[in-house]
Amino acid sequence: MRKVAVVAIGGNSLIKDPAHQTVPDQYAAAHETCIHIAGMIEQGWDVAIGHGNGPQVGFILRRSELARHELHEVPLDFCGADTQGAIGYMLQQNLYNEFRRRGMQKQAATVVTQVLVDRNDPAFKNPTKPIGSFMSEEDARKRRELEGWDVIEDAGRGWRRVVPSPLPVRVIERDAVKELIDAGFVVITVGGGGIPVIEDEQGNLVGVAAVIDKDYASSLLATSIGADLLLISTAVEKVALNYGKPNQRWIDQMTVAEAKQYMAEGHFAPGSMKPKIEASIWFLERGGKEALITNPENIERALEGKTGTRIVP
Ligand code: ADP
Ligand code: MG
Repeated sequence: MRKVAVVAIGGNSLIKDPAHQTVPDQYAAAHETCIHIAGMIEQGWDVAIGHGNGPQVGFILRRSELARHELHEVPLDFCGADTQGAIGYMLQQNLYNEFRRRGMQKQAATVVTQVLVDRNDPAFKNPTKPIGSFMSEEDARKRRELEGWDVIEDAGRGWRRVVPSPLPVRVIERDAVKELIDAGFVVITVGGGGIPVIEDEQGNLVGVAAVIDKDYASSLLATSIGADLLLISTAVEKVALNYGKPNQRWIDQMTVAEAKQYMAEGHFAPGSMKPKIEASIWFLERGGKEALITNPENIERALEGKTGTRIVP
């Protein structure tokens, strides 16, 4: 019996450093991660891949902004859809070539994925996620008046648009993803946390200008397809206590109770490691058996129990 893993891949799987951000650079970075995803599939896993899209959405918004005098701008939900397509393409082609190299009979497919959020989520009253480029105070004020943007002054560096970051409630394309997994496809889904949509009074879906955390969305996906494992691939081999301090200690394994205690003690930085730990806890408290955090190059070794940080119920 093959087991199912949701693999949430982080920003480092597409952009390694600020000097390597072009599309060919991203393609090359994705190649490396795809080698290890193919490796785990060869070990017997069926995989659904979730991925981040923060910088890629930033690039689209910037282009859109620069071309404003000539072309319509791109709404945020469409930036999400565009990046799901482009990143999905990047992963599909890399996986195709890697499967071919290994003589594996596997195919990958991308599902443009909407994720339902609650229109009464408190995040809508308190937008916190900065997106797009920095602006002058005057531009920020104009955008607020003309387009209803929420803007903030970002630590003396200038003004930025902020959008809500609501919690994911339901993966709209869940059944399609499940069918594809059961049929043996590798599925790329919930890209960038999914395109956030709300239900209007009639129950119709409407895209919203918001950003869903990709770790939370991957956790929800893992729960809703009954995955055996949530694997979060990021820039560190293991999670640490006292991260970056002289008394730093790597964690091999922790229970949900231990993870909660460490979190309360402030060991996991908000906006980076904390959402991964919360996403793992969420998965395990809803019936998941195991969550694993490591970096792309250690995926196969971590699955063999040789490294990474394992979180168990
Ligand atoms: P991703 O794009 O994968 O979501 P993030 O930058 O959001 O990456 O989160 C991963 C980062 O979290 C790591 O690269 C590391 O710098 C940081 N981090 C914060 N706290 C910890 C911790 N306790 N242990 C390990 N890494 C941590
Ligand atoms: Mg992150």
